Amino acid sequence: MILILLGPPGAGKGTQAKLLSTELGIPHISTGDMFRDHKARGTEIGKQVQAIMDAGGLVTDDITNAMVKERLSRPDVAPGFILDGYPRTVVQAEYLDGLLRSLGRSIDRALSYEVAEELVVERISGRRSCPRCGAVYHVSANPPKRAGYCDRDDAELVQREDDKPENVRKRMQEYGTKTEPLKRYYRDRGELAEVEGVGTPEGILAATKKVLGR
Ligand code: ADP
Repeated sequence: MILILLGPPGAGKGTQAKLLSTELGIPHISTGDMFRDHKARGTEIGKQVQAIMDAGGLVTDDITNAMVKERLSRPDVAPGFILDGYPRTVVQAEYLDGLLRSLGRSIDRALSYEVAEELVVERISGRRSCPRCGAVYHVSANPPKRAGYCDRDDAELVQREDDKPENVRKRMQEYGTKTEPLKRYYRDRGELAEVEGVGTPEGILAATKKVLGR
């Protein structure tokens, strides 16, 4: 099964992608995580994307498409995969179509997580993550056992640079102008399914599975 997850920043795509990945036994491919990993390792790509990412802008389509192409050439994607945060522009969606066609594959569903803007801002501003293992928390909705420290490895939690309020606004703008039009793109092809992104992660997972007929 090949799934694409759409939705504004803070819609819970990453959380659902992780749950679905376990549930369906297929890899979770997050372009945001891949870019953060490049930044952390200080690679050439990491250096190129650092400033734009921190400010909440989108990385160029060329860099993003090339990274996804490489990722989809690995053998673990054979049974299917979940794309979280890609495509984010119509150019990327068209590129993905061509790439999948060349591999003799096609997407099964584009799942769009629907969440009101106020809630998204609340979620993002309270989000904290572990710089060591990547675990994600929320100061009130999903707090760690000891405030400010990771349950798994006790590292001090941090706020992503792009989760700071001034950068969140930019991300919401980017979403509205560049990514939201993708809903129409997938709807026109009969591949879009909208899922209410409000509730507990397990509740939203159940709603997602229902939409997928599983
Ligand atoms: P969000 O919490 O907004 O869903 P992600 O973790 O998916 O964030 O992405 C973080 C940042 O990585 C984006 O704001 C953008 O700078 C960059 N990025 C991730 N995926 C893409 C993409 N498909 N195209 C361009 N930039 C991307």
